[in-house]
Amino acid sequence: MPNLDLVVREIADEMRQRRDRGEVATYIPELACIDAQAFGLAVIGVDGRVAAAGDSDTAFSIQSISKVFTLTLALGKIGDRLWRRVGREPSGSPFNSIVQLERERGVPRNPFINAGAIAVTDVILSGHQPREALGEILRFMQFVADDPSITIDEAVAASEQRTGFRNIALANYMKSFDALDNPVDFTLGVYFHHCAISMSCRQLAMAGRFLAHLGRNPTTGHSVVQPERARRINAVMLTCGHYDGSGEFAYRVGLPGKSGVGGGGILAISPGKASIAVWSPGLDANGNSHLGRVALEALSKRMGWSIFGA
Ligand code: GLN
Repeated sequence: MPNLDLVVREIADEMRQRRDRGEVATYIPELACIDAQAFGLAVIGVDGRVAAAGDSDTAFSIQSISKVFTLTLALGKIGDRLWRRVGREPSGSPFNSIVQLERERGVPRNPFINAGAIAVTDVILSGHQPREALGEILRFMQFVADDPSITIDEAVAASEQRTGFRNIALANYMKSFDALDNPVDFTLGVYFHHCAISMSCRQLAMAGRFLAHLGRNPTTGHSVVQPERARRINAVMLTCGHYDGSGEFAYRVGLPGKSGVGGGGILAISPGKASIAVWSPGLDANGNSHLGRVALEALSKRMGWSIFGA
């Protein structure tokens, strides 16, 4: 069995030397100035072992990675009825695409494209004030990560609220099909804020442990979701977690994963083995962390972790 600590350190060293770092996203102004040289990697085994290297304790904007946790919460609230509000098929479209929505009459293709995540947020918001819903999402994140220090970066949320015209358009368009229950401003306010949760690779890998371990926190034994639900969330991450780059990610890395555009992070799950978070702000053409994917490909290969075999 390869030595995990060594593999993680080697990969961080290799990534530090690479010049192909991708492009930092600029569409959320507050995030345009992140250091493209940053790189962090944290792996937490289901046995509690932690292997981390690089900037693994620096907090970054998790952006769309938060959608894994809002999906988990919304499924907890309304169960399989959620699938009437949002599909679970890969979209083959960019994360912020609007074209499919017209054909599908306001029911987004999956919970990870922006339109789908906005619909999921709307489900969590129903019956609450935005502040309460946001508090619930943040507390859930703190609970699964076992870390009450996790916070929301208000400046990032405000920045996106000022400039997120595409998301505002998507939400209004869904509302025109009656596909949102709450006022558009309320749903978007909660959405922008949960995208602005700030976490380090170590915190994020901690938060993902339940998905690697049949729905339970392997350290405390607390059940977060039933094993069947963890398996299904992993399935949606595999097929939809990287937007129109999901096929490439499965081909190269072979693990369920969820990327975040603005911050450049990826959460990946090796079922039964480990929860992994990587951070490198430069993105590829599909808006996924370029070196994050390269690092995960190396990790999965060297550890023999691809779900598709060696
Ligand atoms: N908050 C970002 C947006 O809605 C999240 C996108 C992402 O990380 N893919 O555009």
